[in-house]
Amino acid sequence: MRVVKTGTELKETLDEYAGLAGRRVLVPTMGALHHGHLELIKRARQHAGPEGTLIVSIFVNPIQFDRANDLDAYPRPVESDLEKCLAAGVDAVFLPDAAAMYHADRSVTVTETMLSRTLCGATRPGHFDGVCTVVLKLFLLTGCHAAVFGEKDFQQLAIIRRMVRDLDVPVEIIACPTVRESDGLAMSSRNVRLHHKERTDAPRIHRALAAAAKLRDAAEILAAARAGIESSPLARIDYLSLVDAETLQPVADLKLPAILAAAVFYGDVRLIDHVMIGG
Ligand code: AMP
Repeated sequence: MRVVKTGTELKETLDEYAGLAGRRVLVPTMGALHHGHLELIKRARQHAGPEGTLIVSIFVNPIQFDRANDLDAYPRPVESDLEKCLAAGVDAVFLPDAAAMYHADRSVTVTETMLSRTLCGATRPGHFDGVCTVVLKLFLLTGCHAAVFGEKDFQQLAIIRRMVRDLDVPVEIIACPTVRESDGLAMSSRNVRLHHKERTDAPRIHRALAAAAKLRDAAEILAAARAGIESSPLARIDYLSLVDAETLQPVADLKLPAILAAAVFYGDVRLIDHVMIGG
C-alpha cells in the first residue's frame, strides 16, 4: 500500500497502476475510520475488481467546517487509519494536508444552489461548497472511474450526484447503506467525542426517527420525533425536518418517498441521522 501526500506523488503512483486491468475507485474520507468507512472500502473493492485500484483519501477538509472548534477537535488517528487501510486491501492512501490541497489565494469554489439550501446546508453555511469543491478536486486528482459514498450523509450524496450530473463529471457514484452500532447509533467519527452518558443516550435519535416514521401525518411525525429526542436533557436539536426524498425541500403533507432527518447536538458534538419513509 502506498501512502502519498501530494497531488504529484499521487499521479506518479497511479501512473504505475495504470497498466492494470480493472477500475480505479475512490473512497473519500476525513479519517478516524470506523466500520462504516470499511464497508465503503469493501464496496469499492467489489467495483474495482481484484486487479483494479482502490484509493482512500483521508483529508479533514478545513473549508467544509463552519465551526473552528469542530475542526480542531476532529479526531486524527492517522497511524491506526493506515493500519485499517492496509488490512482492508487498499492500494493507495492519499493523505494531503491543507497546503497540498489548496492554494493560499484560491478563488474558485463549486456551489450547488438547490439541494444544499435545506437541512445541513441551512444550519452549516458554506459546508456543501466545501464538500463539492474538495470532492471535485479529489475526482480530478485521482482520475477515478467511480467513487463510494455513505447514505448516512444522504444530503451530501444527493448533492454530489447532482454535481456529477450537472457538470458532466465522468465518475460513477456508488452508495452504501448506513452502518450502525448494535444499539442503533449511526457510526460516525464524531462518536468517540461523546462522553459516556451522551454515548448511552445518543441511540435515542434513531429510535425517535424510526418510531415517528411509522406515523402517516407530517405534523404528527415531526412532533413525535421531536418529543422522542427532546425527552433527553442532553440532546439539543439543531434541525428536525421532513423533506421530499428527491428535492430535499420540506413537505407539509406527507408525499412518499420522504426523509425524516435530524441533526442533534450532544455538548458541542453534532450528530446527524435520518430515516426514509416509503422509499
Ligand atoms: P467522513 O469521514 O465522515 O467524511 O465520511 C466519509 C464517507 O463515509 C462518507 O461518504 C460518509 O457518508 C461515509 N460514512 C460515514 N459514516 C458512515 C456510516 N455509519 N455508514 C455508512 N457510511 C458512512
